[in-house]
Amino acid sequence: MTTPALIPHYVAGRLLSGSSERRLDVFNPATGQVCAQVALAGAAEVLAAVAAAKAAAPAWAETAPLKRARILFKFRELLEQHSRDIASLITREHGKVWSDAMGEVTRGIEIVEFACGMPQLLKTQFSDNIGGGIDNYNLRQPLGVTAGITPFNFPFMVAMWMAPLAIATGNTFILKPSERDPSCALLIADLFRQAGLPDGVFNVLQGDKEAVDGLLQHPDVAALSFVGSTPIAEYIYREGSRRGKRVQALGGAKNHMVVMPDANLEQAVDALMGAAYGSAGERCMAISVAVAVGASADRLVAALVPRVRALRIANGMDPAAEMGPLVSAAHKARVEAYIAAGVAEGARLLVDGRGLQVAGHEGGFFLGGCLFDHVEEGMKIQREEIFGPVLCIVRVPDFAAAVDLINRHEFGNGVALFTSDGHTAREFTRRIEVGMVGINVPIPVPMAWHSFGGWKRSLFGDVHAYGEEGLRFYTRYKSVMQRWPESIDEGAEFTMPVAK
Ligand code: NAD
Repeated sequence: MTTPALIPHYVAGRLLSGSSERRLDVFNPATGQVCAQVALAGAAEVLAAVAAAKAAAPAWAETAPLKRARILFKFRELLEQHSRDIASLITREHGKVWSDAMGEVTRGIEIVEFACGMPQLLKTQFSDNIGGGIDNYNLRQPLGVTAGITPFNFPFMVAMWMAPLAIATGNTFILKPSERDPSCALLIADLFRQAGLPDGVFNVLQGDKEAVDGLLQHPDVAALSFVGSTPIAEYIYREGSRRGKRVQALGGAKNHMVVMPDANLEQAVDALMGAAYGSAGERCMAISVAVAVGASADRLVAALVPRVRALRIANGMDPAAEMGPLVSAAHKARVEAYIAAGVAEGARLLVDGRGLQVAGHEGGFFLGGCLFDHVEEGMKIQREEIFGPVLCIVRVPDFAAAVDLINRHEFGNGVALFTSDGHTAREFTRRIEVGMVGINVPIPVPMAWHSFGGWKRSLFGDVHAYGEEGLRFYTRYKSVMQRWPESIDEGAEFTMPVAK
């Protein structure tokens, strides 16, 4: 038996296997085979990564924003050239279909494009002559060493929500990717190196809780960006902020899509199919609950059942595949436990995807699409994030009941409304307590310059990810008042200074 390849760390411009003996198997979810092992950082690797990022920070902060941006322009070109390789890596370790992985790459590149405009974005305010020959202006300065901890479901895109902005604003960055699909981070590191990024500005620390705790505890890490499940987001926000770090922690979701009786049913069904079963439901913006208002319910169910049964499920590298496997055997078992819980609580399982076998891929972590009807508020499958190809239909009598149901939910990441009535859409947009809203758009992931973030227990911290919120997160705002000796005409002043 051959030993699987080791996926190392990347520190100060070099691959580093590290002294920690801890390793974890990395699987190809379509075959169920181990394709590599990832090194898991211990204390020594955390110290090395932070030391490298700290050593590189002063020179990088002093590098002119335009020079930093030019490296990002080059990086962007390299990403474009290697987009197919990145997508293949994502599919191999995550399982999502290749065309979806290409979509992830495109959405990640868009953030790099936004970060390329950083010289313009870093411009601040200037008030000429506020009185007595004094001018008042602002600076946006980098924080120093920053780190990002990312989830398995977008190994490329979520890293791009963080690193390009952190780096373009003059910080150094340590990426701690998910241990389930760790290879993408190393390709990102290599492309940054080829683009001319100085050693130590971007580092990769592979690992699990031990690596994350090391970053949380290290006094030289000034800021942490996290994207993942809610319990870990809350933990990182609490532990990081109590140590004086700046933290943004994006958590889990339970996204609803309301279907009004006046919605175009065909469009609503298409939207639900893609949003519930795309990426096997492993998206934080996946729709997992369809809220059928009044008479729309029976029509919706009748149209969905044959479509869910007909889903083309295969290895994500198969161009015909609409849905691939789940990320791991453990995650598949977790999703199956939710399905059993839904049945036990009395929801009607109209399509049961359990037991699916994909020919030639019998060891893969496949689960067919599942559809529940008559799901009630308070059932486990309505309350908790399943993160699998399971769509729940909740029937409500009217629009107000739909809004109340969603507003009572603990999560508030994304939401959608399908209607052809402008007033209903406007009311929904204004009343719904969710961070990202789609009107006849099932997955309203904001563009790179609009910022991404949920409400309630879907986000801990004050600012959303990327866009101008990202710029704010990765910089410290400073106010400067200056005048020159020729303008000083008074002696010591003992009163609060006011404009003269
Ligand atoms: P996860 O919370 O298990 O892991 C996320 C990261 O945290 C990984 O890097 C992991 O190594 C680390 N981690 C895991 N357990 C830890 C612990 N006990 N202590 C410290 N660090 C720990 O999430 P996941 O399963 O990789 O990703 C799926 C989750 O991410 C879902 O809940 C999904 O909704 C969420 N997500 C949210 C967004 C968003 O923008 N809100 C985007 C993508 C994914």
